[in-house]
Amino acid sequence: MLSIRQRLTLWYTAVLMVMLIAFATVIFFGGAWQLQRSTDQELLQTALLLTPPLQRGEDPLAVDTSYRVLTLDGQVIRNAGLPVRRVPVEPAALAAARQGRTHRATIRAAPLAAAIEERQPGLAAAVRVITVPLGNGPVYILQVGKAETDVIRLRGLLLTTLLIALAVGLPIAALGGWWLAGRVLNPMRAMTAAAQQIEAHDLAERLPVPPHNDELGQLATTFNGLLDRLQAAFQRERRFIADVSHDLRTPLALMKSTIGVALNRPRSAGELQATLGELDGQINRVSSLLEATLFLSRADADRLAQGYAPLDLSELLTDLVETTAPCAAEEHSQELTSDIAPGLYVTGDRDQLTRLFLNLLDNAMRYTPDGGTIRVGGQTSDGRVVVEVADTGAGIAVADLPHVFDRFYRGDKARTGGDRDHHGLGLAIAQAIAHAHRGEIAVRSELGKGSTFMVTLPGVVRSA
Ligand code: ADP
Repeated sequence: MLSIRQRLTLWYTAVLMVMLIAFATVIFFGGAWQLQRSTDQELLQTALLLTPPLQRGEDPLAVDTSYRVLTLDGQVIRNAGLPVRRVPVEPAALAAARQGRTHRATIRAAPLAAAIEERQPGLAAAVRVITVPLGNGPVYILQVGKAETDVIRLRGLLLTTLLIALAVGLPIAALGGWWLAGRVLNPMRAMTAAAQQIEAHDLAERLPVPPHNDELGQLATTFNGLLDRLQAAFQRERRFIADVSHDLRTPLALMKSTIGVALNRPRSAGELQATLGELDGQINRVSSLLEATLFLSRADADRLAQGYAPLDLSELLTDLVETTAPCAAEEHSQELTSDIAPGLYVTGDRDQLTRLFLNLLDNAMRYTPDGGTIRVGGQTSDGRVVVEVADTGAGIAVADLPHVFDRFYRGDKARTGGDRDHHGLGLAIAQAIAHAHRGEIAVRSELGKGSTFMVTLPGVVRSA
């Protein structure tokens, strides 16, 4: 298999060779045609000069060109010069002249005697002959001829030039092509070497980007972009595993120490029951974490959006507000209001959407001080359904805002608040559900004043 460099060089050389040959061919045929035209003109001129004296029966003086005079049936009655003597009388020429027409032809000459050939090696093998009628009638036929030496010389010259150009030019062109292809492919070699250095576990290396933003530059930039995305995905994955392990370790350690304390000495039934209750809480925490990570891994595998069907979101939200409002009022003295337009239809999964909005309501209640207000709004906008969950709570710091949807991200208060039942996965799950429904989730917040989470989902037009 030839390398790209070899193939480029071959192509380059072959194209150049074809071009050289085509160029020489055009020059040859064009030149030969031009030469023949001027020979014909010269011969005609001579024929014109010869005609008057020949018609008077005189011997023309000063004749450079070879000529002969023939009778109408082709008998040579006068001959001057070598070239016409070397060619046979062509019947076509005679016929044309008899009809009063001028006839032009290149006629193959009879071979010369070896002695003459030796003395005058340049003598052409073909003769250009012009046949013209002489006299009115006509009476005789005049043939003027000239050896086609110039055309043969031109052909020889072109052939020699072409051979020299091919013999000298082609190797130079091939070397040039080789060098050029090498230069073009150099950055590619550097990229290949750099790509070989990149290990799956360390994606920090990048390909060298050539200084010009050409095709290779774009290839390197695109490849580096791919590496950026891969590296980010790997880092996310690693952080996720580390976070899951960390969140699993804490309850497991607590369970172990609870069991250790319980086993320290004989316990009463009441004490054992209390220990089991504690263990039950820890197990709930572990299983809720596992369930959340499992849900997210299904979301990553694009397996959430299965069995989606049109559903009435207005009804779902109203039910949710009705079941949550008593708890908000009783436990936190919070007022939960709603302003949900009827007939908001989306295509989706009831359980997943309930989980999404429950997460938002749960957060709103948790991060809003007692006595605060939570409002759930729902309406359509440009064919999309927009649901807002707004609270008058603590708000989110500007530095936290871009991260609240990250997995295991917990704001300062949540982290230091020691709320162990929350792993920082609630909003990540809400976002995964919104995306699975081809929707978006966004947040607007002001510290100390409250936060508003907006979920936008594609609406479904219901025919009446
Ligand atoms: P968590 O389990 O900590 O609630 P979430 O993913 O639900 O995790 O939320 C991530 C972080 O976003 C929270 O720790 C909190 O800092 C912040 N947050 C979420 N909702 C609100 C809200 N309504 N008001 C203020 N902060 C919020």
